[in-house]
Amino acid sequence: NPYYNEKTMLFFNGKFKKAATTTTDLYGQTLHYGYGAFEGIRAYNTSSGTKIFKATEHYERLKKSCELINIPFQYNIDELIERSYELLEVNNLTDAYLRPIVFCDPNMSLSKPNGVNIMICAWKWGTYLGNNLLNLAVSSYCRPHPKSIKIEAKVCGHYINSILATNEAKNKGFDEALLLDTDNFVAEGPGANLFFEKKGQLFTPQLGNILPGITRATIIELCKKLDIKVHEGQYNLEQLVDADAAFYCGTAAEVVGIRAIDEKEFQLDWEKSLGKKLQSAYKNLVLEQELVLQNQ
Ligand code: PMP
Repeated sequence: NPYYNEKTMLFFNGKFKKAATTTTDLYGQTLHYGYGAFEGIRAYNTSSGTKIFKATEHYERLKKSCELINIPFQYNIDELIERSYELLEVNNLTDAYLRPIVFCDPNMSLSKPNGVNIMICAWKWGTYLGNNLLNLAVSSYCRPHPKSIKIEAKVCGHYINSILATNEAKNKGFDEALLLDTDNFVAEGPGANLFFEKKGQLFTPQLGNILPGITRATIIELCKKLDIKVHEGQYNLEQLVDADAAFYCGTAAEVVGIRAIDEKEFQLDWEKSLGKKLQSAYKNLVLEQELVLQNQ
């Protein structure tokens, strides 16, 4: 088990407890129906100590995800952030991935939750998609229709779509999937948002059919600082394949370049792409090396 050992602590409903011996109910509504919400957050070992990147944004999104699916969120965000830092400290983690999850008590009906729990765990996690350029396969699965679910919420059950798409791509020998939306516009990866570069400008799918990534928002902020033009819109697969370069971004994936879509390679050398520039800028930002960013 790469996530915990006999000493690992987690935060569960207000208390720190041992991961190995803390249990939950097998009749829970989240286990049976995927009715819960979660976050993925990274902490970095910066020059001024361990910093949880965009902690407020992530806990705000957790709150919003819960509210969008009618799970009451009674937690104080500042307190959750404080507990998150304590969690890293008790586990001697300086850089880590944090996974808060809000899940529901036993309830076999499809009505509102009987009770709500929060758990936060943390572990050391390398870059989710590795550091090599990715070979993507266009998925036979599309992202869920926003009229079927709350696509902007990070809801447990939605990840069945991501798991199906990832496994399909991997079974075909690709690194990762690319999902279209129900109108056949390019949407996102199973756990990351997409940007592509054409003639020195960036393009990214607009909000509406994708998870509003915190890394996506960070990349857009960085582009403002670096004077890179970003367009948000609806783009079809031909436009993407015709691009000069592309990358995925997300908390777990960070910024990772894409080599090819369905074996059609991008022509621009990754080292010369805006994605590469943003990959460095992102790294500097999370590590709080602002000066390096300004000097680039
Ligand atoms: N899209 C999906 C479907 C995701 O699961 C994630 C990861 N949370 C992202 C995009 C990227 O979001 P973020 O940058 O907030 O991690």
